Amino acid sequence: MQDKVVVSDTQLSEVAEKMLALTTPSPLTDFKPDWPGAEFVSMQIKRDDVIHPIISGNKWRKLKHTLNALPGSCRHIISFGGGFSNHLHACGYLCMKLGIRFTALVRGDYTANPTPMLRDLASWQADIQYLDKTTYAKRTDPIWLENLQKQYPESVLIPEGGSQAHALKGVAELLEEDNSACDHIVVPVGSGATLAGLIGAKSHPVSVTGIAVLKGEGYLESLVQALLPATGQQHPWQILHDYHQGGYGKRNAALTSFCDDMTQQYDVPVEPVYSGKLLFAIKDLLEKRFFPDGTRLRIVHTGGLQGAR
Ligand SMILES: *Cc1c(COP(=O)(O)O)cnc(C)c1O
Repeated sequence: MQDKVVVSDTQLSEVAEKMLALTTPSPLTDFKPDWPGAEFVSMQIKRDDVIHPIISGNKWRKLKHTLNALPGSCRHIISFGGGFSNHLHACGYLCMKLGIRFTALVRGDYTANPTPMLRDLASWQADIQYLDKTTYAKRTDPIWLENLQKQYPESVLIPEGGSQAHALKGVAELLEEDNSACDHIVVPVGSGATLAGLIGAKSHPVSVTGIAVLKGEGYLESLVQALLPATGQQHPWQILHDYHQGGYGKRNAALTSFCDDMTQQYDVPVEPVYSGKLLFAIKDLLEKRFFPDGTRLRIVHTGGLQGAR
């Protein structure tokens, strides 16, 4: 292995931000829906979905410091995800733009029926490999990963969802971009890294609530716990498990029409996998007067609109 080569003191994330014309800082906008109970709180939406049409939302936040930590010799990135993965999509596009080879290890075999996301990856010259469920389950097994690394010694492996320590730092920055204060932050939870980043963010005191988008009571809490650093301040947090609608990617008709309403009535496009479930949950929580009166609520729109195709 080559030693780390420092090419220049410009960080790779800055190069990417300029090249891709990312909208950072992302806008923070007032949200005043005519929902029952909404009159008792004030709400703002952090529009990370508009950062970039492809590298949107929390996927940019999570990749930013991962990019900066890449060894100068890195010419190849390998990562993992499902057939609709926003993370693989973001990685594939970034790598294409930065001239880095990208290998996507995909859960399941889509050879006969590639998703729009996989078609994009292919058009960006990504190397796509389909793994069966059993093999994919080894994606966190240290011995399996060590072998993979030996097979591609020049590569850097990024875990599924981009979820690792570097990711937390990028997510935490989302709170530092705006001066206006808030009391309570609400985010969707998939792998838990976004939630973990906000829990550990240095900021005025806030509570952090995650909305589980998949069936994972107990499991999601342990993922978040494992990502949190052992020391350092932590904001109080919880995950609500009543809004996943039966599992990852599952939805009922009410959610589908709610997503359309969000776009048409409030000009906030959401998809049913993450941001739709998040806002659907918030609507219900407001009606139940879950948040104390006067709460200044910050809703993080994590993006992901490509996945809805
Ligand atoms: C990946 C993703 C999430 C989940 O984030 P985690 O950090 O894995 O919990 C939420 N929203 C969108 C749009 C995503 O693409």
